[in-house]
Amino acid sequence: MDKTKTDYFSQAHQVISGGVNSPVRAWKGVGGEPIFINKAQGSKIYDVAGIEYIDYVLSWGPMILGHAHTEVISAICDTAQRGTSFGAPTETETQMAQLICSAIPSIELVRMTSSGTESTMTAIRLARGFTGRKLIAKFDGCYHGHADSLLIKAGSGVATFGIPGSPGIPEEIAQLTLSLPYNDIEALQTAVDRYGSDLAAIIVEPVAGNMGVILPNKSFLKKLRELTEKNGIVLIFDEVITGFRFTFGGYQNLIGIKPDLTCLGKIIGGGMPVGAIGGKREILERLAPLGDIYQAGTLSGNPLAMSAGIATLNILKTKSDSFSALSNKTNHICLEMENLFKTKGVAACVNRVYSMFTIFFQEGPVYDLVTAQKSDMALFARFFHGMLKNGVWLAPSQLESAFLSFAHSDDDIDFTLNACSKTLNNF
Ligand SMILES: *Cc1c(COP(=O)(O)O)cnc(C)c1O
Repeated sequence: MDKTKTDYFSQAHQVISGGVNSPVRAWKGVGGEPIFINKAQGSKIYDVAGIEYIDYVLSWGPMILGHAHTEVISAICDTAQRGTSFGAPTETETQMAQLICSAIPSIELVRMTSSGTESTMTAIRLARGFTGRKLIAKFDGCYHGHADSLLIKAGSGVATFGIPGSPGIPEEIAQLTLSLPYNDIEALQTAVDRYGSDLAAIIVEPVAGNMGVILPNKSFLKKLRELTEKNGIVLIFDEVITGFRFTFGGYQNLIGIKPDLTCLGKIIGGGMPVGAIGGKREILERLAPLGDIYQAGTLSGNPLAMSAGIATLNILKTKSDSFSALSNKTNHICLEMENLFKTKGVAACVNRVYSMFTIFFQEGPVYDLVTAQKSDMALFARFFHGMLKNGVWLAPSQLESAFLSFAHSDDDIDFTLNACSKTLNNF
């Protein structure tokens, strides 16, 4: 007999904690049982029953070329034929580092990891070692992976579940992290006035993507650069989502601000597990074996991840004009959705930037975690399930971003808008 949807999840539950290997996949934010996936191709994702959806999750950002891109897959297969891991240097690691350094001017040296979490964790350790200071600051609703000192008032699943910090993180460690409201220059100035000489680092998502999409105010990042520079604080841009999503490079390329350290992940792995930390030579040179700050990884710079990432970046390099087309496509879908919501009398505020957007179920404006959390989460859950029924796969939480890929066609967009219209008709 065929397995039902419930069978997959309940069988997973028996052997995997919570049935999932990352919390948001369990759909706690929207209710119901998660659908299991069998395959994906281009803009489409297919569940175990063979049902097709247009995918706006894209593995939470990485699949900017669409799923199973021919060149990426053949790069992975070619590499796999020659072995999957050696624990010794390979040329592909140098090629990857060259691509990153050439794309992002603030990055003079780089080191690869296997996840975004490892890259932010390393960035914090480097900043502390480099400055000899203990305190770090982050912003409410920004998510920087799940390392202890960064899980304070974090976004993504942590915000979805309303977890203020997390048990298991000793107070002594939590106390070393200040969390400030995003986009609030006054709060930033006050914190730096008070703690400036004790702050090793300030880490920020230059565009916030983990409390839904929230754009930085024009002067916010500029002020952040000014204050950190003046006070000898290491400025870390967490570009794990935004790196190579808007242009061939980081969001920093577009705004002309150079952080001291940059964290990357997601897109640069082309769908394989990856992370990278890069930045100023004098800081990166502190890493062992050159320096005294330890960081390592058995699978860091893994050949499969490098080949998928290199293939992805090489394709993106040729797409400099297409990024704006993708941005226009996203803007179109957002405008049309706004019209549909307005016609239906549903309060919605659609934040967007390039190929990322979030429909917040409220009047808005949404510019930080507090305003994001004013959204009608129950209404979002209804919308999510309605869209799903109509063939559109959205992230199962109000406080996440939707992503477009280069594989999303005009037909996909029309289909999505039609699904939105149908969903709202049943609201
Ligand atoms: C996803 C994400 C991370 C963590 O990356 P993982 O690969 O999941 O460890 C860190 N920072 C930001 C901004 C992210 O979106």
